[in-house]
Amino acid sequence: MDLGLSGKIALVAAASRGLGRAVAEELAREGMHLVICARGADALHETAQAIRGRTAATVIEVTADLSDSADVARVAETALSTFGRIDVLVTNGGGPPAGPFESHSDAAWDVAIRQNLHSVIGLTRAVLPGMKERRWGRIINVTSIAVKQPVDNLILSNSVRAAVTGFARTLANEVAPFNITVNNVMPGYTRTQRVEDLATHNASLRGTSTDAERGVWERQIPMGRLGEPAEFAAMVAFLASERASYTTGASIPVDGGWIRGLL
Ligand code: NAD
Repeated sequence: MDLGLSGKIALVAAASRGLGRAVAEELAREGMHLVICARGADALHETAQAIRGRTAATVIEVTADLSDSADVARVAETALSTFGRIDVLVTNGGGPPAGPFESHSDAAWDVAIRQNLHSVIGLTRAVLPGMKERRWGRIINVTSIAVKQPVDNLILSNSVRAAVTGFARTLANEVAPFNITVNNVMPGYTRTQRVEDLATHNASLRGTSTDAERGVWERQIPMGRLGEPAEFAAMVAFLASERASYTTGASIPVDGGWIRGLL
């Protein structure tokens, strides 16, 4: 299948490792040029260099904290001033900390809302005018299976992902006449540092081991294993593609069957 992405421009947020990095790699393999961002300059540079080494992509790195609206604006401005356009926006961010309601201060809520909701809004606001003008665009938000079935002990993530889902589903209708699609992809348990950290957190809560906690998840997943970041990235690449022109307003799981619901 020709995804029709060659030569197009993607902005992938929070892409120094994990799901964001896998998405950036996949889009670069499809011939796209990239703007990627993350907080840590060294890890971001290592990722950019790895992508440049394996593909013909131009990769612009922007060190930025997505919980800071000025940084979010700077990422978008750098992308637009470098390439003059963003065809595909992939919003992503670090996962909010785990813990029950009473463990999170107002400040923690504020950071989660700024990082995982406001950054989506800010990046969307920046890319939308150009997409409308060109009458083509793809906005893809990384959310979570928690949207369909909240995950215990992840109240910050569960709450903020729901807000992003309402935002995306509403925006999808507004921009569909401009040939712009807006979709969310919901990762299930996927082998990244975030999931490793969650397993370690759960192990310390329950007095078990990280391996044992991973095993608990594996038994909940019909496929019997965690996902690989590349499996997640393949879905994002499809949604970014020309071929996905009639799919919008959807939240699509990449979860090995973890969500038990019919819809
Ligand atoms: P990860 O921790 O492995 O990677 C997160 C990336 O975000 C890194 O590049 C990191 O540098 C960057 N980042 C973190 N905080 C940032 C900030 N304030 N500003 C800019 N960049 C920042 O996480 P992941 O597993 O790749 O997850 C990505 C997103 O998907 C997270 O929001 C996570 O909660 C969500 N998610 C992941 C899974 C999973 O199984 N991996 C499941 C459901 C949801």
